Amino acid sequence: MYQYSVEEVEEKLETKIESGLSPELVLTRLEKYGKNDIQEAKEKSWWSILIGQFKSPIVYLLIFAAATSFFFKEWLDGIAILVVLFLNAAIGFYLEFQALLSMNALKKLTLTKAKVIRGSKLQEIPAEDLVPGDVLFVEAGDMVSADARVSKPMNLQADESSLTGESLPVEKSEDVVSENTLLAERVNMLYKGTYVTKGNSHAIVTATGMETELGKIAGMVESADQEATPIEKKLEAFSKKLVWITVILVVVIFGAGIINGQPIVGMLQTSIAMAVAAIPEGLPIVATLALAFGMLKLAKQNVLVKKLASVETLGGTTIICTDKTGTLTQNIIEVTSIVCSDGTDLLAASEESKDPALLKNKEELLNAFVLCNTATMSKDHKKEVGDPLEIGLLKAASGQHVSFEESRKKFPKIHEEPFSSETKFMATLHKRDNGAVVYAKGAVEELIKICPKILVAGKEHAFDKKLKSEWMEKSDQLSASGLRVLAFAFKEASPELKELSSNLVFTGLAGMVDPERPEVAAAIMECKNAGIEVVMITGDHPTTAKNIGLKLGIIDSESEEVIHGNDMKDFEELSGSDKKNWKAAKIFARVSPKQKLDLVQVLQEGNTVVAMTGDGVNDAPAIKKADIGISMGKRGTQVAQEVSDMILKDDSFTSIVSGIKQGRIIFENIRKFVIFLLSCNLSEILIISVASVFSLHYQLFPLQILFINLVTDVLPALALGVSKGNMNVMQHPPRSGDEPIIKKNHWVAIFIYSLVMMVCSFTAVVYSHNTVHKTENWDPLLCNNILFYTLISCQLLHVFNMSDRKTSFFNNEVFRNKYVWFATGICIAILIFSYLISPVRKALHLYEMSAYDLGIIGVCSFSYLLIIQLLKKLKLVL
Ligand code: ATP
Repeated sequence: MYQYSVEEVEEKLETKIESGLSPELVLTRLEKYGKNDIQEAKEKSWWSILIGQFKSPIVYLLIFAAATSFFFKEWLDGIAILVVLFLNAAIGFYLEFQALLSMNALKKLTLTKAKVIRGSKLQEIPAEDLVPGDVLFVEAGDMVSADARVSKPMNLQADESSLTGESLPVEKSEDVVSENTLLAERVNMLYKGTYVTKGNSHAIVTATGMETELGKIAGMVESADQEATPIEKKLEAFSKKLVWITVILVVVIFGAGIINGQPIVGMLQTSIAMAVAAIPEGLPIVATLALAFGMLKLAKQNVLVKKLASVETLGGTTIICTDKTGTLTQNIIEVTSIVCSDGTDLLAASEESKDPALLKNKEELLNAFVLCNTATMSKDHKKEVGDPLEIGLLKAASGQHVSFEESRKKFPKIHEEPFSSETKFMATLHKRDNGAVVYAKGAVEELIKICPKILVAGKEHAFDKKLKSEWMEKSDQLSASGLRVLAFAFKEASPELKELSSNLVFTGLAGMVDPERPEVAAAIMECKNAGIEVVMITGDHPTTAKNIGLKLGIIDSESEEVIHGNDMKDFEELSGSDKKNWKAAKIFARVSPKQKLDLVQVLQEGNTVVAMTGDGVNDAPAIKKADIGISMGKRGTQVAQEVSDMILKDDSFTSIVSGIKQGRIIFENIRKFVIFLLSCNLSEILIISVASVFSLHYQLFPLQILFINLVTDVLPALALGVSKGNMNVMQHPPRSGDEPIIKKNHWVAIFIYSLVMMVCSFTAVVYSHNTVHKTENWDPLLCNNILFYTLISCQLLHVFNMSDRKTSFFNNEVFRNKYVWFATGICIAILIFSYLISPVRKALHLYEMSAYDLGIIGVCSFSYLLIIQLLKKLKLVL
């Protein structure tokens, strides 16, 4: 549509810039063109997940085992193995499907919005509902949600690097361009997936969804969401290693059995069962599930994490770089002092002065409050739209009987130089009498620089160096008491004036309080205890920043250094000692977005994980560069939200800390899950090996091993995977990025757990015979049953060994985890049912046992729990 004029596009798409589409037309078009979304290259369907369950080595092994059983006419065993096979697949399917559902639920939470004119009203709708012909309104910081033809652009620039590779923003205009113009040169079009860096504009949607330029190339781009997270990759690699170890073990045991004269069929089945026992199939998927559950939990706590991998990275965060306004403070700004350039404080004065000279001063200052201001609010102040700082100014002016609505009507705006974090300044040009007037406001040192004059007693005077430094001092005093300070200026001008930011007349200062969020000090303390550094990076004045930093505990003493943006060299020029200084500092003030990027780069040197907050268009590079980029749900621009890994819906620092805590909990949960499963599996391997190597006349049956693994291990393990975490999780330093899931001391613990479990199980058998049965010829089936039940009981109780050893046995994250109790209950129920249902009982070779034997089983398995608890208290195991 770039080759047509706006009017032609309007005609072709039956729409009008002023009124947009009618609701009826929207509906028919939605039906015709479908949703405005890009179908991802690979979206998993439920049946592909189901088929996936049957494509694993464990299934092949089970099929082989079933076939061998059928071959040797062991019908019951064969059927039982097939049942186990389907059970295994069903559990796998359920877990993976749950993870997929969670991911889809999360995707819905991060839907982008678009501003459109429909039925003559400007409204915000989900971007996926856009249709061709819709009239978009875009402004700086917005993502473009569909391909659209620009109309009436105001200083419009867009960053199209994601589509064209062009790194500089492109200036947009309404002009028609000739047919066959290259995509990058179609200046009158905006494209889906790009974003607006400056200005604003209306635009008619010309294509949506897969029809957009982005949609056309989307087939080639794989969705990033489906990439395995580092922890999943680690677990996969880990599982592969275990498979090899198992194969070697199985071969050894098989050999030993044959040498000892065991029958080949039995040994074959035992080996297969052992292999199945040792392969920790579910590891990666449980990690996915734990991460996805964690994401959902965080979403409920106002933290939207966009990728599974980020939840994991979050847990390892070592440095949080946070901005001040709105994140550490409430961003509810109240003006508490208004100092006119002749020295009077309007709010401190007991009565209003009638002196006309002062009135002129007051009028020019308060005009700047309301005119150099883009916020609005309703009469009763209940509905407020815009920057809280500007709303604070409107309220202060209203307190001085200046109505922003009347003033804006009286002095219509002709031109505006919008505020940017780089210039720290804003100016507007308004019609007045026969000419025009400029009003400006901004950071004190920036504004004073461009004011050669000052208004005193209604007249303009030279604003010399000495006077300027006196005013700077006054501003510093206000900052030192914790206020944000803004300076104001004006000048008479012609309506054609283009350059607004020079030769201004200084009219005064405003001091504003922005109270800190009450909950933040405790969160910062929590970070300190958790070994996480908190660094404040703000655009505000160093003294104001220091004041807040001291109150919140980011710094401990007045003497700590605050690094000023002016003193920060470019990244390329930094010496080793500069970098050291940067790494040591806790507060950076008057920092530009580019400097934020440099700072992230410096902090990322070494083994660190840096989280960084940002909200503006210009913060995007720093957010992207950080290991965890954080944007704000309320304050943030769409671009910042788009590039960030995490969005804080309530903009609060505390939510970052909740995120980190959750990340740590998830990692711990996954670790516990792995330790639990491995120790259970290893105990089985040890028992089978010992029975085989020592040629004992009783052994665990293959089906029993499968039963223990698939029925009684999985549920408690899963329950551990979704634990709420312990209280100590924020009381130790962050783990380092390359830390393995299972460290050396974990391996030692796993070995000790399984060894003790094996000893307790054999003890039950030996004790039973030496006390009750007292026969030389031990009944192999009874021995087997005692072994089986003791092992199962030990494993069920073992879940309670998974708590942190610093916590008490009855008050820890495992004991309080209702899922653990639930899982244990179900396991016991399954055990009872398998005993009551005769074919299952037969397949498992179970038979009735005396109360005495049951007592021995109980004592031995509880002894296992006691021994491990004792070893834990003695700090001999983890
Ligand atoms: P933070 O970076 O922690 O959010 P901040 O809000 O002070 O702090 P910026 O928004 O970059 O950071 O603002 C930098 C400075 O620009 C402010 O300290 C203030 O002096 C000035 N300023 C902020 N908002 C406006 C505005 N709307 N108009 C003019 N000047 C402003």
